[in-house]
Amino acid sequence: MALYRDQQVTGQKYLVRATSQGFVSHNNISCACAKPSTADDVRAVVLDMSAMNKVLEFNHDKETVTVQTGITFEALERTLLEYDMSLPGVVIAPQLSAMTLGAAIVTSAHGSSLVGPATVAAFLQSALLVDGTGDIHTLENPAELLEGSMGMLGVVTEVTMYVQAKRKMAVRQMQAEDFDLVADLRDIIDNSEAMALDVTWNPTAGMYQARVWHETDEAARGDAMNAFMHPPADWLAALADRVHADQVDIHDREGHMCEIIGELSHFPAFVHSPDQHPDDGTPPDTAIGWLNQMASAGCRTAPEPAHEAGAGAGAKAGAGGAAGHAKHGKAQQQPHRSAAASHSCLLGAAKWTPHELAIHSQDFSAWLADARAVLRHARGCPPFVLNFRFVGESDAPLALSSGRQVVAIELSTLSSHRASAAGFPLKHSRLHEELLQMTMCKYGGRPQWAFATNRLLVGAPCAVRDLYGPAFDKFMDQRVSYDPAGLFMPPMWEDIVEKRPGTYYPGCAARLDCFCMADEHCGPAHRCVPGEEFPEFKVCAPSEDRSKHEL
Ligand SMILES: Cc1cc2nc3c(=O)[nH]c(=O)nc-3n(C[C@H](O)[C@H](O)[C@H](O)COP(=O)(O)OP(=O)(O)OC[C@H]3O[C@@H](n4cnc5c(N)ncnc54)[C@H](O)[C@@H]3O)c2cc1C
Repeated sequence: MALYRDQQVTGQKYLVRATSQGFVSHNNISCACAKPSTADDVRAVVLDMSAMNKVLEFNHDKETVTVQTGITFEALERTLLEYDMSLPGVVIAPQLSAMTLGAAIVTSAHGSSLVGPATVAAFLQSALLVDGTGDIHTLENPAELLEGSMGMLGVVTEVTMYVQAKRKMAVRQMQAEDFDLVADLRDIIDNSEAMALDVTWNPTAGMYQARVWHETDEAARGDAMNAFMHPPADWLAALADRVHADQVDIHDREGHMCEIIGELSHFPAFVHSPDQHPDDGTPPDTAIGWLNQMASAGCRTAPEPAHEAGAGAGAKAGAGGAAGHAKHGKAQQQPHRSAAASHSCLLGAAKWTPHELAIHSQDFSAWLADARAVLRHARGCPPFVLNFRFVGESDAPLALSSGRQVVAIELSTLSSHRASAAGFPLKHSRLHEELLQMTMCKYGGRPQWAFATNRLLVGAPCAVRDLYGPAFDKFMDQRVSYDPAGLFMPPMWEDIVEKRPGTYYPGCAARLDCFCMADEHCGPAHRCVPGEEFPEFKVCAPSEDRSKHEL
């Protein structure tokens, strides 16, 4: 309220963003970054929600919990399990359990579910929102307003959400050749009575791995934990050098990435404690454990900050909070301060860059055919595999699945910090860039707000705004009524609204800030060329594509 008043009275401009100490976002929407041209006039304020991590009330009878939104999924689930409860739904938790509940709600973060919503917002009973004028709103059934709102309505400080009795899952892991991928997935969805499904597709190996989730008896033996972030330590220790060697081998003569991805796909997706392996009657390809411990994982080794839980209906615990002031931000910074990532974890061992686009599920088969066509041009192994998750339709205007059921396609990449700092583009950038632009522009694929780089949001050949149709304007009307002075509106949002062109400078494509328009955007030894299958999209390719001549 003080900032709003000051802005009204003195004209001093503010830019306010909520975040947490473990924040992992990868674009400028989440950053309190003023544009260089306005930086001297704008004061950026970062609200650190990390200490607002308390469980305030647990109501066993109503099966609800009231929490402050700086709590992480990991901490909340741990507390709920102490009361034999768990997060609601099936797989609603994002894969990284260190995310805060508040961030997940407003970024439309999701898991994967075949039976009901895959997002936490859908399970909110109420929320407290401090808006851009300092007013406090108690919102009932706030999903439609908050999901995908990216913190632009104000700060969500507290939510009451439904929870459920803890659930044990049996997750079958299947691996198969990908000839009939769509038919295979259709068969699982239609005939297996699975509650959730998520799939990793490795097109260069011609294989996919599907994890098929069924509920099982609570008494079944098994305490499987998601092991995705934690491959063996010696393997992680060598990863940075191997990924560097791969990225500088621009013509892919040495095949490092094929080995890395091959090895990665053989590490177990879940691990059981030695005395908690499922009993002999359980098929060997099946892991058993508590739902959310299997759904998401963290990188942190240090314990979470203490939190308190009241037992039984009506119990109350204290609340806390912290606010800090940041210096003027700079435009196009990559806000990558990942306390969640350490070298004992996949995320910290090399440069992991998130990319996710969501397409209408009815287009999946056609999309897959186009993706295969693009990837047919791969010589060697690109530094990414594709993950598919299934998210039901949402009514929220800017939710990832607003107005349609989607398949969320993740194409996150593995690269080298050292090679990237030296200006090398992503290995096989031409394929990755063609896939991204094809998915976004031919299939209306929406970038996940917090799981996308700047160039998907501003400067892509088709505007993000258009991917939401009239829902975008609906959100803009809501935004103005909650934040008339635009305190919570990041400059990048203005670029999205105005459909402004991207930021171009030498090497901008290599830094994932633009899709190239000229050779100089691509970094050393690369040039800007039309895509192989979709020449309307420009991509960066090695200057001398010797791989072709050598075939
Ligand atoms: C390894 C990894 C795995 C991921 N897996 C998934 C996944 O499985 N599914 C998926 O959908 N996404 C996934 N993501 C992306 C994810 O959605 C975002 O990274 C996440 O939302 C950011 O969480 P954070 O706690 O770091 O948020 P922050 O960066 O702190 O916040 C994200 C945005 O939310 C706003 N915000 C945060 N808290 C509040 C609040 N209380 N009130 C109002 N606004 C707020 C911030 O201002 C910011 O704009 C993944 C990301 C990583 C790095």
